[in-house]
Amino acid sequence: MSSSVSKPSRTLRPRTLAVRGGLSRTNFRETSEAMFMTSGYVYDSAEEAEASFDGTLDRMVYSRFKNPTVAMFEQRLAEIEGAPACRATASGMAAVHAALLCQVRTGDRVVASKALFGSCHWIINELLPRYGVEVAFVDGTDLDAWKAALSQPTACVFLETPSNPTLEIIDLTAVCDLAHMAGAKVVVDNVFATPILQSPLELGADIVVYSATKHMDGQGRCLGGAVLGSAEFCTDVLGPFLRNTGPAISPFNAWVLLKGLETLDLRMERHCANALKVARFLETRPEVTRVLYPGLESHPQHDLAKRQMRGWGSIVAIELAGGKPAAYKLLNGVELIDISNNLGDAKSLITHPWTTTHQRLSPEDKLSMGITEGLLRLSVGLEDGDDLVEDLARALES
Ligand SMILES: *Cc1c(COP(=O)(O)O)cnc(C)c1O
Repeated sequence: MSSSVSKPSRTLRPRTLAVRGGLSRTNFRETSEAMFMTSGYVYDSAEEAEASFDGTLDRMVYSRFKNPTVAMFEQRLAEIEGAPACRATASGMAAVHAALLCQVRTGDRVVASKALFGSCHWIINELLPRYGVEVAFVDGTDLDAWKAALSQPTACVFLETPSNPTLEIIDLTAVCDLAHMAGAKVVVDNVFATPILQSPLELGADIVVYSATKHMDGQGRCLGGAVLGSAEFCTDVLGPFLRNTGPAISPFNAWVLLKGLETLDLRMERHCANALKVARFLETRPEVTRVLYPGLESHPQHDLAKRQMRGWGSIVAIELAGGKPAAYKLLNGVELIDISNNLGDAKSLITHPWTTTHQRLSPEDKLSMGITEGLLRLSVGLEDGDDLVEDLARALES
């Protein structure tokens, strides 16, 4: 690209950076960001090719390493997050996998909260031990459990807050302090909160990972992921891992996500307003024994959520008195809300974690994560909140 990359400015606010950050125009002076669907790049001379490979010339070499559209997405997301650096990946799981595997080795110890997205749990519980990494799981809400688990040297802490699907809130400041005393780097899966509602790096975390598939796309179109952290980590530790193992994101997907970032803040506002309305309605229903939403005064960590989050997110979990039959009745009774295991979409989606997203876990593991047969996870979309309440009311009464 011949024009200069607009430099991040500390004086601009996140809402401006979401629209302007990372913008790098070509000589055509396009308004919208260009999509560079190219795997490779050409050199004007043999000397230029050599300089590009020996590092004396910083330019695009191959899209597994770097691509202009992907770079715009990375830069914009880094600016919104307030992170020094960002690397995009093909999916959220590629981001989680790379963020962990690039920094742990045989003999290391990893401590994680047990209420995790199913595939994150698999990586820590199944994959890491294959390579001789010792792993320990703790109840994320129990600071004494963190203290005990982090009383010995630890390489890495992995956690998700709010957690999927039970919306537990973990005290980021306290856990980061304990982790750092044990020598660990803290990786936070910030998918449910998004950079709009929570800034883990400001609370002490070292690395933030995202499934950009969720709210950043926000319209259920494509997969993507991102890892954010220090420039040193992204360049020297994560960089070689990504370059040589190849979980690169398609420039097309990066472009969709880049444009998604422009409206993320606006969309999160509606997601949050709708989710609170739905949660408050469900709290009034006799069929529902428990409504889990960080914005409700009844949420066990509501005060902590208020301290470390700027809003409560799009996900509401409910437990039905009638167990699985009642859950299935509601799933099959809603007309507007779709049955789907995805989340963070413009369309409201509902899922039964016990039989879908967390099906592979043993019943004991599910129960220890707070997942019962009567639990439903609702991803509240951008429709009119009153239509969603009416849809749920109709399904509960049927
Ligand atoms: C969806 C999700 C992931 C995985 O992301 P993909 O883009 O589906 O690979 C990881 N963590 C959480 C909390 C998620 O919701």
